[in-house]
Amino acid sequence: MRQKIVAGNWKMNTDLDSGIALAKAVNDSASSKTTDAIMIIAPPSTHLSEIQKVLTDVKMSTQNCASEEKGAFTGEVSVDMIKSTGAEYVIIGHSERREYFNEDSATLAKKVDLCLSRSLRPIFCIGEVLSERESNEHFNVVFSQLSDGLFHLSEDELKNIVVAYEPVWAIGTGVTASSDQAQEMHAFIRLKIAENYGKEVADSISILYGGSCKPDNAKELFANQDVDGGLIGGASLKAEDFIQIVNAF
Ligand code: PEP
Repeated sequence: MRQKIVAGNWKMNTDLDSGIALAKAVNDSASSKTTDAIMIIAPPSTHLSEIQKVLTDVKMSTQNCASEEKGAFTGEVSVDMIKSTGAEYVIIGHSERREYFNEDSATLAKKVDLCLSRSLRPIFCIGEVLSERESNEHFNVVFSQLSDGLFHLSEDELKNIVVAYEPVWAIGTGVTASSDQAQEMHAFIRLKIAENYGKEVADSISILYGGSCKPDNAKELFANQDVDGGLIGGASLKAEDFIQIVNAF
């Protein structure tokens, strides 16, 4: 059985006090969880060690990590720093990192390797922009991102990856991929993993959907065979919305 996962990407929102309050509210809401889905929150890095103290039923992720181990890289946050906070997951390759910080596939592959070397689980994001979908390039784009970022891994390493399919045109826009569009791409991603690593491995990998996922559309999206949960932006900033999405399974 694949793990169901709902992860909240807080992005650059909340100060320390409001972040701790939100983390507590999310953690409290976990007591009304009606599914075995794993709940993860990804607060800003500055909040991690304080937030870890209030979490009992929710796991913690970062939104990024440095591509180098340590040294003179002003402003960067290393995998060892992340590990020392108690975080277990790292979001890698979010479209905002790819677009605004020019993160290319070679850099992202290095980040994946560094995370795995510290037993941190990457939540690896892939997804096409609107013009790529409109020109029917979306499968090629998603396959390139998937293979360039992950297919150098061994089978055992790949099993620690969570994939997040996030069509860029759906992120923060209020436009969600239809249930059919999500299932079609998730099945494609699983097929490509199966072609390279075998069906058993492909069937064990959780593939999350991200892009304007909300309490009112999560049920339909999560009902798909190959959709194993969600990476949630805006709606993860309200504990009530987040738990409703979790309970949409
Ligand atoms: C995201 O940033 O990963 C995301 C899915 O955002 P939103 O839910 O706000 O579209």
